[in-house]
Amino acid sequence: MTDISIAFIGLGNMGGPMAINLAKAGFRVQAFDLDATACALVAEHGAHIADSARAAVEGAEIVISMLPASHHVEALYLGSDTAPGLFDGLPAGTLVIDCSTIAPTSAQKLAAAGESRSLAVLDAPVSGGTAGATAATLTFMVGGESSALKRAHLVLERMGKNIFHAGDAGAGQAAKLCNNMLLGILMIGTSEALNLGQSLGLDASVLANIMTKSSGANWVLEKYNPVPGVMEGVPAARGYSGGFGTDLMLKDLGLALEAAITQRAPVPLGGLAESLYAAHSASGNGLLDFSSVLRMLQPRGA
Ligand code: NAD
Repeated sequence: MTDISIAFIGLGNMGGPMAINLAKAGFRVQAFDLDATACALVAEHGAHIADSARAAVEGAEIVISMLPASHHVEALYLGSDTAPGLFDGLPAGTLVIDCSTIAPTSAQKLAAAGESRSLAVLDAPVSGGTAGATAATLTFMVGGESSALKRAHLVLERMGKNIFHAGDAGAGQAAKLCNNMLLGILMIGTSEALNLGQSLGLDASVLANIMTKSSGANWVLEKYNPVPGVMEGVPAARGYSGGFGTDLMLKDLGLALEAAITQRAPVPLGGLAESLYAAHSASGNGLLDFSSVLRMLQPRGA
């Protein structure tokens, strides 16, 4: 057990295993989520469950959040019409690390609000999926001051294996949006190729092996195959449950498009991918893992 107390807010598909890894590493983890089932899972691994986010941050040197979207994170730290934000009660010097994927502009807003209260705030979104969160092999893309990142290393390295300083506040989120736009496109492209191959009579596993060693190789083929039965331990192997929800991918593509419009950067495939995930979500698949987008392409009944 170390002397360092960490508050961890948001114990979902990603935050749960990340908080568990910190508890296993010997940190004192005070955790909170609105969902009691998510809390119970983390409690089994030695974390203390607090009654509220405010109770969780009491006495914590480091506060980590892993929430769905910008508005959740802004409400948590800056407050809303109904409740004050956590920034108002945190002692000067507290290190705040937000690992959620949110708009770069939201991350910059948090960093500025934190600075005015002498808090050190980092945006540190992650890549690697739930498997990476469980295995503590996540990639962190960090925006903010180098001095704050130096302090954060101690905990980030217990949850991930690649830690990149992307630049100033918001830069971690900018890197994450670019990465996830590419991931969203790759998932659809890979699904198209695999579905076409199956319709031509190829076995999906055989085709995946061939493409993994050919010029079509990519992370989806290597780590996250969308065809049920090809890979163990991925969402496709469990009815597309857990993993990275279609609605979360849709949120990330929305953030990427918003940034692209502001920057006047052309992202034609990013725009198309956003429309396809939106249609998939509108058909009732928003909570399924995003690799279920394969189903849109499959013949009915497949
Ligand atoms: P999730 O929906 O599984 O978990 C989010 C959790 O936040 C839920 O348990 C919810 O109850 C909790 N929550 C919401 N508002 C809260 C509040 N005010 N206080 C306390 N808890 C609150 O989502 P996830 O898959 O864990 O994703 C979290 C973030 O990580 C998202 O921004 C997502 O885009 C990003 N991300 C996800 C993946 C992935 O593979 N799932 C990968 C990389 C990044």
